[in-house]
Amino acid sequence: MALLLDHERRLICRFGRKLVEERMTRGTSGNLSIRNRRLGLLAISPSGLDYRATKPADIVVVDFDGQVHDGTRKPSSELALHLILYQHRDDIGAVVHTHSTFSTVLSCLGWDLPAIHYMLTPAGESVRCSRYATFGSTALAENALEAMTDRNAALLANHGLVAAGPDLDTAYATACETEFCAELYWRSKCVGQPNILDHAEMAKMTALFSSYGQK
Ligand code: 13P
Ligand code: ZN
Repeated sequence: MALLLDHERRLICRFGRKLVEERMTRGTSGNLSIRNRRLGLLAISPSGLDYRATKPADIVVVDFDGQVHDGTRKPSSELALHLILYQHRDDIGAVVHTHSTFSTVLSCLGWDLPAIHYMLTPAGESVRCSRYATFGSTALAENALEAMTDRNAALLANHGLVAAGPDLDTAYATACETEFCAELYWRSKCVGQPNILDHAEMAKMTALFSSYGQK
């Protein structure tokens, strides 16, 4: 018999392995979730389990009040972060949290990531650094939601990165592009003062991105 949210569970396993293979996180850090609008449920990665060993049955299915509907594992310790984004942002269908190196460096400095490259566009005109809160706390979730106003990503102070999108492919790609821009920013700052794209140019990019690629 197929598992509840079988498709979403398989996707979370696949993208969890990608997180490790593409060095977007390390160890069991980070977490992923997908919303199923029809059933009013979400599938989320289990807490502290090796991504390479995680099977569909290890993924946890919860409702939007955080009640577990299916699965024997403990859900990610950042469940509150995932829930608050779905509860307040109807456009979000998937969430990716990572401890990718350069985003985490900026988050430790408490810096926002400005528009250093047009590939920041899917994340937003800039990516803000949220106020600090302990991992897994309601305060961390609230601070991240605030930092994500009009944005699809935020740096979590002294912690890492969170990115969101309509689906997991998009949320993951936004996390990767944000990490790329964080690396560009850090490397540029090591040798000089990077030029930052202005509001008008980023607004143009947003329009260009709406028709970019194969529709
Ligand atoms: P989990 O393994 O509980 O998802 O926690 C990882 C993490 O990055 C917490 O911020
Ligand atoms: Zn984390």
